[in-house]
Amino acid sequence: MDSRRDFIKKASLLAGAAVVAGNGASITKFAINKMNSNKLKLSFRPYTLELKHVFTLATSSRTTTPVMLTEIQFGDVTGYGEASMPPYLGESHETATAFLSKVKLDQFSDPFKLEEIVDYIDTVDTGNYAAKASVDIALHDLVGKLIGQPWYKIWGYDPAKTPNTSFTIGIDKPEVVKEKVREAAEYKILKVKLGRDTDKEMIETIRSVTDKPICVDVNQGWKDKQAALDMIHWLKEKGVVFVEQPMDKKNLDDNAWLTQNSPLPTIGDEAVQGLADVLKAKGVYSGINIKLMKCGGMRTANKMVSLADGLGLKVMIGCMTETSCAISAAAQLSPMALWADLDGALLISNDIYKGTTITDGKVTLSSLPGIGIEKI
Ligand code: MG
Repeated sequence: MDSRRDFIKKASLLAGAAVVAGNGASITKFAINKMNSNKLKLSFRPYTLELKHVFTLATSSRTTTPVMLTEIQFGDVTGYGEASMPPYLGESHETATAFLSKVKLDQFSDPFKLEEIVDYIDTVDTGNYAAKASVDIALHDLVGKLIGQPWYKIWGYDPAKTPNTSFTIGIDKPEVVKEKVREAAEYKILKVKLGRDTDKEMIETIRSVTDKPICVDVNQGWKDKQAALDMIHWLKEKGVVFVEQPMDKKNLDDNAWLTQNSPLPTIGDEAVQGLADVLKAKGVYSGINIKLMKCGGMRTANKMVSLADGLGLKVMIGCMTETSCAISAAAQLSPMALWADLDGALLISNDIYKGTTITDGKVTLSSLPGIGIEKI
């Protein structure tokens, strides 16, 4: 009797297991079919960032920055992206609309084919790097959300190793500069735009109110290599830690000479757009400034980080004025950077996302999946 009862019990358990397995299998098959029947859907809308302060560069001043906000929908998951288009780089709401209208993501039903999809985006048209980045970022956000992990984790980067971000002090009258330095109390490193005849005055003004480290961005403004070297020696005395794009990006010889002789590291920014430029920067600069809007997005940026690392070039992660969307995307790479210039979202008054924050001057990654943002 006992063995018969055992047999019946085992048989019914097995039958139950089969039912569960059958249901489980059919549910999985249903889910896979549902995923396969989904296509990637791209949508986008123009948005204008309002800057807290007038932003002054060597050649222009402005109070707004046009951006394009993108979304890629896959089933009920949405990835967010952004193109930031400061006017001097040539992209605009019009060019981004024209480019994004040509991107046909509905030909793809597997978002995990990141390489293939991003390669396709690159073939849609030449240039349009910010618009391309907006699709690449949204795709990364989507894939991270599908995996359920932020990209710094997927890439294996330690969030504890994020650097401090620099905070840009714009060119202005001494009283205003002093006030801006006081407002920047939270930040551990200040960034100053040089390349005008008031360079020394600007540094002296900042030094009259703080002894924090300063990094300088010359934006190709220095014309004579010996004068540039003399200036770098003076800057080193003043506690400057590196010099970004000292001379014309086309002048490889003078930039290389300067780097060889400079007591401070030099960083190529305008000279370094995409992956191929990293190789060209070797021997010309001490490091490179990687920006998603220059290189077309997170996929290329991460490859640039690896290549720079292999070539012994220092890595800096930079940004444009951007919402927390593009800033949080760039911040995923920041544990691999020696320096970060990710103050873009701090300079605007109408951010619509929250994600990466700056805590006590340090880039602080959100643990949310994808690029780690949510809509405010
Ligand atoms: Mg720069």
